[in-house]
Amino acid sequence: RFITVEGADGAGKSTVVTRLYEALQNKGWDVLLTREPGGIEIAEKIREIILNPEHIKMDKRTEALLYAAARRQHLAEKVLPALEGGKLVLCDRFIDSSLAYQGYARGIGIDEVFAINQFAVENCMPDLTLYFDVRPEVGLARINATKDREINRLDLEALDFHEKVREGYRLVIERFADRFQIIDAEKPADEVFADALAQLEARLQV
Ligand code: C5P
Repeated sequence: RFITVEGADGAGKSTVVTRLYEALQNKGWDVLLTREPGGIEIAEKIREIILNPEHIKMDKRTEALLYAAARRQHLAEKVLPALEGGKLVLCDRFIDSSLAYQGYARGIGIDEVFAINQFAVENCMPDLTLYFDVRPEVGLARINATKDREINRLDLEALDFHEKVREGYRLVIERFADRFQIIDAEKPADEVFADALAQLEARLQV
């Protein structure tokens, strides 16, 4: 099974995903936890290039292609072998991030970004995607309250960019409604985690 986790910056994804990983392992699942962009050496290097705050003049299509390249390498080197080995793969961000951020928020177009990503992923799409929904002002306030987070290029974007990201996710969810589960990420962390685990277990038992 291939499960992805999506959401805006400050939605609390990475914390919840780590707890989900531990909970699933305790229940006896053989799980691989990984993240995008990154997860393996080549993709982590691409991540550094994309997110470097000094790379302010990076063209948006270059950015989209780099994400797709990182995604391809991560998939080929790590995700596909794990799926073939029967593992449950839990991945923090995947194709939908590109559709929402580069496709919609950066204005390239969801269809165009989907096309380059189809080239990158071939037919490997998630079985289930948990979307952590948070209003941008709430997400950004959380980020500003977290001191140990690395500053990246996205942190320099204004609130309206993050509004567009959320709108982009809404469109992506409409398109792929059957694999999405929406989780209210404005609730306290423990409730968000409990909701996410319940959704996951409900789907995994099918
Ligand atoms: O999820 P994580 O915090 O690791 O993401 C790193 C940064 O990359 C975030 O600021 C996220 O918004 C951004 N990102 C992006 N486009 C993607 C994936 C991530 O702008 N396709």
